Amino acid sequence: MDLETKAQLISLGTIQLSRPRAVGQPSTAGPGAGESSIFFQSGWRLARLSVVNSSSLHLEMEGDEAIITQEGRVIARGRIVEPLLHCPGQAYITVSERCIYDCKFCAVPRLMGEVKSHEKVMEMVEEAKATGRLESISLTSGTEVSPQHEGVRVAALVCDLKGFGVPIGVSINPFPGVNRILLDAGADEVKYNLETADRDIFARVCPGLSYQEIMDALREAAELFGPNHVFSNLIIGLGESDQTIQRGIDELTGMGVLPILRAAYPHPLRRGEVDIVRPSAERLLGLARYLKMKLDEKGLDGRQALTGCYCCTGCDLAPGRDL
Ligand code: SF4
Ligand code: SF4
Repeated sequence: MDLETKAQLISLGTIQLSRPRAVGQPSTAGPGAGESSIFFQSGWRLARLSVVNSSSLHLEMEGDEAIITQEGRVIARGRIVEPLLHCPGQAYITVSERCIYDCKFCAVPRLMGEVKSHEKVMEMVEEAKATGRLESISLTSGTEVSPQHEGVRVAALVCDLKGFGVPIGVSINPFPGVNRILLDAGADEVKYNLETADRDIFARVCPGLSYQEIMDALREAAELFGPNHVFSNLIIGLGESDQTIQRGIDELTGMGVLPILRAAYPHPLRRGEVDIVRPSAERLLGLARYLKMKLDEKGLDGRQALTGCYCCTGCDLAPGRDL
């Protein structure tokens, strides 16, 4: 699959299955949290698609070959990759599947899911390790009680998970002191999501969160964890302009942070709460090329990432891997 085809798949974001066999694991993280998805690999490129019956993309299986069609025309041929926990090669675990915040695009506060115990997370990673496919661990979490409470809980997990001998990344809501706690626990990478580079949209869609606090945590994280090991999602499709996204890319890469350009996903649980225009393939390509150019200018390299979305690449056009 070439870059343009992946952009087309990511822009659409969904697929329907001709046979129920290929239904993937329900996801607890990422754009389609709570929905089933599949990972389609073609060449070295990977695309994660939510399984939705009304999708214009269809998946057919011919033996082990997976074929994606649209209106009867073949778009791409490849294979289905089984995720380990949430995504291929990683134990990517959502620790608290609930959140006191209420970001308007996010399904987590609506799902009101499980808060996994320390023991449960350890068991899940143990099982993942037993498959022989564990390459890294990514811990993400909503905020059950407070960012500090979540940070301390996740740090205790990181301490114990170091014994598995693979890189560990953490994505939680930041607070003053978060980086030192996670670094001392043994985390290798962190991700604090800015969500949007447009401050007005941020105030509307992320009530209760502080744009400045996230930026401050990212700046400090880049100094402590080093370049190529700190990440932040910028959602594309919340009404922001390309110029605003480019300014956000400039600012983040200037600090040594790798932005993740994530196509906005209109989750059924948030219907009517936020205006989402799924980005076109052309928009995704243009912004991904701009991001790649800025990363190159700053000497940053997505291939150095050890955990999370820059390793997985399923939801995005990942600089250093896809382009
Ligand atoms: S803070 Fe994170 S998990 Fe909580 S509602 Fe916002 S995006 Fe969702
Ligand atoms: S790119 Fe990130 S959010 Fe998407 S499936 Fe992979 S790990 Fe999950």
